Amino acid sequence: MSSEGHQKVTARHLARSAYLYVRQSTMRQVIENTESTERQYALRQRAVTLGWPNDNVIVIDTDLGQSGASTDREGFQKLVAEVGMGRAGIVLGLEVSRLARNSTDWHRLLEICALTDTLILDEDGIYDPSHFNDRLLLGLKGTMSEAELHVLSARLRGGIINKARRGALRLRLPAGFVYDPQGRVVLDPDKQVQESVRLLFQTFQRTGAAHATLKYFRNERLLFPTRVNGGPRKGELTWVPLSLNRVACILHSPWYAGTYAFGRTRWRKQPNGKNRYERRAPSEWLALIRDAHPGYISWEEYEQNERRLKASAKALPFDRSQTPPREGPALLQGRAVCGVCGSRMHVRYTMRREQQIPTYVCVGRGQLYGDPLCQNILGTSTDLAIANLLVETVTPIALEMTLAVQQEIQGRLDEADRLRHRQVERAQYEVDLARQRYMHVDPTNRLVADSLEVEWNAKLRASVEAREEYERQRTADQLVVDGEQRRRIVALATDFPAVWRDPKTSDRERKRMLALLIEDVTLTKQQQITVAVRFRAGTTTTLTLPRPLTAQQLRATHPEVRQQIDALLADYTDDQVAHILNERGLRTGAGEDFDTASVKWVRFAAKLPSLKQRLLAAGMLTTRQLGDKLGVERKTLGRWRTRGLIQARICNERGEWLYWFPNEIPPHRPSPKRTPLATSTVRGAL
Ligand SMILES: [Zn+2]
Repeated sequence: MSSEGHQKVTARHLARSAYLYVRQSTMRQVIENTESTERQYALRQRAVTLGWPNDNVIVIDTDLGQSGASTDREGFQKLVAEVGMGRAGIVLGLEVSRLARNSTDWHRLLEICALTDTLILDEDGIYDPSHFNDRLLLGLKGTMSEAELHVLSARLRGGIINKARRGALRLRLPAGFVYDPQGRVVLDPDKQVQESVRLLFQTFQRTGAAHATLKYFRNERLLFPTRVNGGPRKGELTWVPLSLNRVACILHSPWYAGTYAFGRTRWRKQPNGKNRYERRAPSEWLALIRDAHPGYISWEEYEQNERRLKASAKALPFDRSQTPPREGPALLQGRAVCGVCGSRMHVRYTMRREQQIPTYVCVGRGQLYGDPLCQNILGTSTDLAIANLLVETVTPIALEMTLAVQQEIQGRLDEADRLRHRQVERAQYEVDLARQRYMHVDPTNRLVADSLEVEWNAKLRASVEAREEYERQRTADQLVVDGEQRRRIVALATDFPAVWRDPKTSDRERKRMLALLIEDVTLTKQQQITVAVRFRAGTTTTLTLPRPLTAQQLRATHPEVRQQIDALLADYTDDQVAHILNERGLRTGAGEDFDTASVKWVRFAAKLPSLKQRLLAAGMLTTRQLGDKLGVERKTLGRWRTRGLIQARICNERGEWLYWFPNEIPPHRPSPKRTPLATSTVRGAL
């Protein structure tokens, strides 16, 4: 081939430069695989043999440490540019098809080489891409190279997956597990670690929310174990405060259920080019081996936890499931289900006379797709009905429930107390260790002895602090149980209804009690409101309630009061009516005193005629009407009125007068401007 190769090299090629492209995929290869790099540089010698002057061989090695599959390889781009501009006579590379690790790049380079009459050289020989056979060969080499890369990575990954399927792949273990000397997964032998993990699961069991679990650990000042992942302190146990992320990871981890799991998540490429971390369903995990090692919970508990986590997750509004009790008086928060579409209903609060009034709202899929609201139901009457139902039905089991609550609280506190005491013991143990080290050191070795003494002192201080912290929390816990709470728990045992209605019982607590008893409540608004209650025990009860009045209806004046207003309006003006109603002790629908405006409003809403309208209808005339009829001025009418010559009365709060047409017209000087009879007939006709 080399003799043929020499024929391919012409003076035209030699007049241009030779480009040597050097690449190693990873920095590790760059460091370890120096032989390959040396081979690549040896190609330079080949170029010189072929006739290129030594100083006309240009080395492109800016891509060292970059994979051929990556796209931003500056060196390769530069090479393509140089070839494209016809500056290259020959391109040199070790296993030249690896110049470009993806086929498209490679074929593009080949085409450009063919166009610009550039040769290609690798360890096997010299090629002229403008010759069909050479181009075919080079193309094949590129395709093979890409296939090889694929097979390689598939084999690598396949190996990992196969190992994982057998449960033999050694993974980083979550807190609470260690590998024993035989490489089996066992519970962490440290009792404090085990107890911390158990407490976390128990707390979640009790609270039903990851955040509440975190809060409990924070409030009780409990630390959580973690093992150092790498570095010189690898495997060492440290104690750190919990984070929400950590709690979620632990709760989601099937390892605690004694299950070996692999491939629980995957990266998904998104349209915007970013990768998103996605959790797979257990059926899609690459490996799932039940009872592979001892666990902290059962698989059933794990599945239940998953369901609860999902329920408390703030998911899309229409599939938001039960939520843990939050602040706010709405009893059915997190438990109300829409009877129309089956979605969970939200709670919205409106303020009315400094009280939060809940409304259960179903947005259906509306929030996402812009549909109108599904249904909304005023919460006041439903909440009341549910509360009454509870008080009626719950009494017999109240005692049991309370005792359980009390036991649980006590147990919880004992558990926390024990764990905190472990912290004290551990601190003491470290003090002993430091003291021993100090005792054993040669006293003449001042430097070491000094530093050990400092360490001993530090450990002593830490131990004292741990003890103080322990005592402080212990007293705090005792206060909690001995105080008000204990009395109220005992009261609950004897009188559930009273505790339920006790204003000191917080809304949250009430909802917690409700959650113990009721699974969910389905609300449907039709002619009436149907409330279908599903108790935890499996029984169901359906209540029907009248539709609550709208805000306007609620504010409406009582019908009887309205009748009185109607009657009074025959004789009195609006402000007089208001005065009389207040004297009679009557109130508006909103529970306030009447004033002119509210009487007007009732008149308007009930379409009652005003005093003025009634008097006019009875035949009285306005100042202007009478003045026109008689051809006299307003002044004259006023004078007649004050002298008692004509009958008149005030018809509204502005003091407007109405007149009866007089039987006898008092003597007067007619107004010069008006022609009385003509206008009076015209106006009378009007
Ligand atoms: Zn709905």
